[in-house]
Amino acid sequence: TQVYNFSSGPAMLPAEVLKLAQQELCDWHGLGTSVMEISHRGKEFIQVAEEAEKDFRDLLNIPSNYKVLFCHGGGRGQFAGIPLNLLGDKTTADYVDAGYWAASAVKEAKKYCTPNVIDAKVTIDGLRAVKPMREWQLSDNAAYLHYCPNETIDGIAIHETPDFGDAIVTADFSSSILSHPLDVSRYGAIYAGAQKNIGPAGLTLVIVRDDLLGKAQTACPSIIDYTVLSENDSMFNTPPTFAWYLAGLVFKWLKKQGGVAAMDKINQQKAELLYSIIDHSDFYRNDVAPANRSRMNIPFQLADSALDKLFLEESFAAGLHALKGHRVVGGMRASIYNAMPLEGVKALTDFMQDFERRRG
Ligand code: PLP
Repeated sequence: TQVYNFSSGPAMLPAEVLKLAQQELCDWHGLGTSVMEISHRGKEFIQVAEEAEKDFRDLLNIPSNYKVLFCHGGGRGQFAGIPLNLLGDKTTADYVDAGYWAASAVKEAKKYCTPNVIDAKVTIDGLRAVKPMREWQLSDNAAYLHYCPNETIDGIAIHETPDFGDAIVTADFSSSILSHPLDVSRYGAIYAGAQKNIGPAGLTLVIVRDDLLGKAQTACPSIIDYTVLSENDSMFNTPPTFAWYLAGLVFKWLKKQGGVAAMDKINQQKAELLYSIIDHSDFYRNDVAPANRSRMNIPFQLADSALDKLFLEESFAAGLHALKGHRVVGGMRASIYNAMPLEGVKALTDFMQDFERRRG
């Protein structure tokens, strides 16, 4: 059977990319060695690195006054990286809490400052939602604002584009980067772990406006100091070279698909298909308000949770993998990042309807 992997991350990669990586694995570009065995300082790898950065910049239309950093440490690394680099002489920053990952960022930030937490979680007609941006009460003395536009676990998204005047907006795009066009100029810093829409785990991308460099705390470890990374082209220490190379292949694949505008379209189709099957059934439910529904991570519950185990067993047998919801919310979750084709979501919805007919 054709397998579709709905894992929230590390997640499915484009089959075409994996095939190419496999072909090149032992003999990269005729060198007789793998790309993961060569020096990051040699001209061969530098070319891989530069091309990946260029393609990433093209895809997101990143203005030239922004640096792109290829880092270690994951999304959680940047929960520390943001305050350590951007607090400057301030002692507070605004943190919007709309879900699990935003709250986790607050927890880490508390080691470095006293965050002003803006609780943006609301319930509308019994559905989970997020306060619109115009209702976020920013404080006067905050170094920056931080929020998470796509809550991977909660299945909640903030689709608005920030417009807060001079306030420095930072955002955790770990689970939605490259899934839709993005106006980078609205942000001071954006970061994303690679393992969902970019490539393998171990690589984290940071996009930071260059006038924000040079403010890191003295205690900031050099390996997450944006200025040090920038001055060393993300090679202050040995970067995750294989992940960087693979991310580069994914960027080329994305360009071939028509870039992020094309992905946005198909991602909307995929999400609409899955939500419509959930909404037109009493057997399945999703409790997120339509305006805040994620297009990447779609949690759903079975009306009878006693059937959860059977649903997971049968879906797995049908080639639909990793549908178990996160342990903190239970139920099911389908993560449908860029690499998930529309056919994968069709296979899932066909299975769901069939399961409902048989067990409903
Ligand atoms: N932020 C978001 C939105 C995530 O989905 C995750 C992980 O799933 C993280 C942060 C943490 O990332 P990492 O495990 O790379 O530290």
